[in-house]
Amino acid sequence: MKTYDVMVIGSGFAGMAAALFAANRGLSVVQTGATGGIDFSTGFIDLLAVHPIAEQKVWEDPFAALAALRRDLPAHPYCRVSDDEISLALQEFTNFLGQHGLCYRGRDKKNTLALTSAGTLKPTYLLPCTLWNGVEAREKKANTLIVDFHGLKGLSARQIAEVRKDWPNLKTARINFPGMGGELYPEHMAWSLADPARRAELAEMVAPLAVEAQYVGFPAILGMTDTSIVLRHMEELLGRPVFEIPTLPPSIAGPRLRAAFDRGLPGLGVRTCTQKLVTRAESSEAGFHFTAGSGSTSVDISARSAILASGRFFGKGLKADRHHIHEAIFDLPVTQPENRGRWHRPAFFDPQGHEINQAGLETDAGLRPLGADGKPFHPRLHAAGAILAHQDWMRMKCGAGLAIATAYKAVASL
Ligand SMILES: Cc1cc2nc3c(=O)[nH]c(=O)nc-3n(C[C@H](O)[C@H](O)[C@H](O)COP(=O)(O)OP(=O)(O)OC[C@H]3O[C@@H](n4cnc5c(N)ncnc54)[C@H](O)[C@@H]3O)c2cc1C
Repeated sequence: MKTYDVMVIGSGFAGMAAALFAANRGLSVVQTGATGGIDFSTGFIDLLAVHPIAEQKVWEDPFAALAALRRDLPAHPYCRVSDDEISLALQEFTNFLGQHGLCYRGRDKKNTLALTSAGTLKPTYLLPCTLWNGVEAREKKANTLIVDFHGLKGLSARQIAEVRKDWPNLKTARINFPGMGGELYPEHMAWSLADPARRAELAEMVAPLAVEAQYVGFPAILGMTDTSIVLRHMEELLGRPVFEIPTLPPSIAGPRLRAAFDRGLPGLGVRTCTQKLVTRAESSEAGFHFTAGSGSTSVDISARSAILASGRFFGKGLKADRHHIHEAIFDLPVTQPENRGRWHRPAFFDPQGHEINQAGLETDAGLRPLGADGKPFHPRLHAAGAILAHQDWMRMKCGAGLAIATAYKAVASL
């Protein structure tokens, strides 16, 4: 049986990034995992926007926020990664996505306020290029038409206009999607727009409504694997800049990201065991033996080192029984609230968040998870992403950024 240099456990943002970074450094990589946060993501790559959580202080400069965070929270996993490493990680990650049809854009050392499907603004660091004209249109308060569709849940143009009272030149229209009726799904719509004739039909319906508009916005449905081509064609047909707005999760951003990795990672030599979870793990001085999946389709895997990117509860990296939280694969010690009574605060929307959302693994400076004796559990086991303790990515708005940065550090430490 082949022994791989690295087994990556997880195919969320952290697992995908770890597989990419390891393969780019010439390591032989095998990856397992099933559905993760990436499949439900809106496509934004948040670096850090809120700190401290209790004050809900929002930062325009994520690197200034990182400096403050490192001063205030010395156990936060961002303290294990330097600004340079973060920048290099994001660059390598988005370059790869760009090569596989998903262009990303942001401002140097500055968060951007991106429009959400609810009409609110979310501070994020990098966003799909197909959203960018929407940022400009809103900032300029330009004459803009947002189109939505009968039968499509997950985005209401009228709601956006009602929330964005500060954008008086925003108009809306609801139309039928050409060639489809009943309940509509973004993925089906996106695939159908791979056909240039369908785009022409759509543009013909929108053009008379957009006579006064400088920009036209659509729900995120403009193509699946060729978004920039579809967007450019719609711009040509409508004669004005076009943009997308992410729909409610699960939006199309997740399938687009997964498709980019499915196309790109095998080309780098990564062996992917899709939709398979590790069901058995053994470690020795020489390395690791895993079984992924169960029954007749299970596979046995040997690797000299491993990166644990199995997420928190949503990803299934952590599991909770009535009283305790456990790490699901190696049974590593999990830092967690003293007792169940402290998992959650009484108020669901308490600005301080809930202690359970900071549960996870302790690591050394090289992101090696610590065992019960306080020493690295294994010299070549590293951890990355949401499974790390002392961070509440949802409230700090640092989900994908933290996953990518810690994956970079974990691979570097190998
Ligand atoms: C609805 C939603 C929207 C989000 N939107 C954004 C956003 O706009 N911007 C942003 O920056 N972040 C966003 N995030 C957060 C971001 O997706 C997470 O922070 C990030 O996914 C954490 O990544 P992760 O890879 O560490 O964990 P996860 O995404 O949870 O992935 C864990 C992976 O490990 C795998 N796994 C678990 N157990 C095993 C096992 N036994 N064997 C093998 N594999 C295993 C899972 O199958 C999964 O593939 C969003 C998350 C959600 C849920």
